[in-house]
Amino acid sequence: MKPSILIVYTGGTIGMKPDPETGALVPFDFNGIYDEFPALRHLELEIDVLTMDPVIDSSNINPQNWLDLAAIIRDNYARYDGFVVLHGTDTMSYTASALSFMLENLAKPVVFTGSQIPIGVLRTDGRENLITAIEIASTRLGDHPAVPEVSLYFQNSLFRANRTTKHSSEELSAFGSCNYPALAEVGVNITYHSEAILRPERYDEPLRIATSLSDGIAIVKLFPGLEERTLRAMLSAEGLKGVVLETFGAGNAPTSEWFIRVLKEAIDRGVLILNVTQCQSGSVMMELYETGLRLQHIGVISGHDMTTEAAVTKLMYVLGENRSREEALALLRTPLKGEFTR
Ligand code: ASP
Repeated sequence: MKPSILIVYTGGTIGMKPDPETGALVPFDFNGIYDEFPALRHLELEIDVLTMDPVIDSSNINPQNWLDLAAIIRDNYARYDGFVVLHGTDTMSYTASALSFMLENLAKPVVFTGSQIPIGVLRTDGRENLITAIEIASTRLGDHPAVPEVSLYFQNSLFRANRTTKHSSEELSAFGSCNYPALAEVGVNITYHSEAILRPERYDEPLRIATSLSDGIAIVKLFPGLEERTLRAMLSAEGLKGVVLETFGAGNAPTSEWFIRVLKEAIDRGVLILNVTQCQSGSVMMELYETGLRLQHIGVISGHDMTTEAAVTKLMYVLGENRSREEALALLRTPLKGEFTR
C-alpha cells in the first residue's frame, strides 16, 4: 500500500500564485497539487489536502487556531502516515513549537514548511520545500517513520520545530536552530541524523491532544533603562499567569533592589517566570553570576537553552490544563519534547 500524507494548508506566502489576468497574488488551490507538480506522482504516495477555512496570514494566528490544527491531526491520525503543515513563515516557529507540546504520544511525522517566495512565482523556494517536506513525512527507516516528531523543513535543513526561530525576512534560509543540530540535511540525498531525532517510547499509543491553552502569558524583554513603573505595570496585568523573561547573556538581570522586589511580588502572587536568554545561542546558567543567582533565589525558573517561541508556547500548554503549581513547575523543569538541553 502506498504511504498516505495529509497536507494541511493554513495560509501564508507558500499558497499564493499570481492571477494570470490581473497579476495580483491570489490563493493557490492545493487540491490541484498533482496538476501543478506532476513530479509528485513519482513519489508513489496518496496525498490529500485539507485547506483551513479561512486561510490566514500567519501574523493573525492565535491559540484557538492551534487547538483547531491539533484536532485536525488527531481526527486524521489513524488514516495517514504523515502530515505536512503549510504555514506562513512569520509565526511558523510559534505554531510548530505549540503543536510539539500539544500532540502527546506523537509517533508519526508532522513537518511544517512554507516559503519566502509565493509558490506560483517562477523562482519560488516553495516547490522544493513542499516536495521535500512530503518526502520526509513519508519516509520510513526500518519499521518506523524516519522523523516521528514535529519538525520544520526549510531550505535544505530539517529542524526540531521547537528549536527554531525565524531569523531572516529576506534570506531563503529563513529559519535557524542555534542550540540543536539539524535532524536531517538535504543535498543530492537526504541525510537523517538519527541520533538527534526524538523517538516515542511506543508507536502504538493513541494520539492525545491538549484541548486548552492558557491565557495570561506575557514576554518581558529586559533592556538597560527598563523602569520600575513599566515593569510593575507589566507584571500587574490582570490575569497574568506566566512570563517569559528574556534576560541578558547567561540569564542575567539587574541586581537593583526594586527589580528583584517587583519580580518577587509577581512570583508570590503565583505568576511563573521562565528565564530565557536574549542571545541567539547558548543557555541560561543562573548560578554563574550574582546577577543570575538572585533570580534563582526568588524562584525564577531556568529556561535553559529554550527559544522564546518554545518557552511561551510551553507555558500556554503547561498552564492550560488544571495542574497544581508543583505539577506545572515539574513540567517546566523537564524537557517534554526535546525543547531544551540540560
Ligand atoms: N506574511 C506571511 C505569513 O507569515 C509571510 C510568509 O508566509 O512568509 O503568513
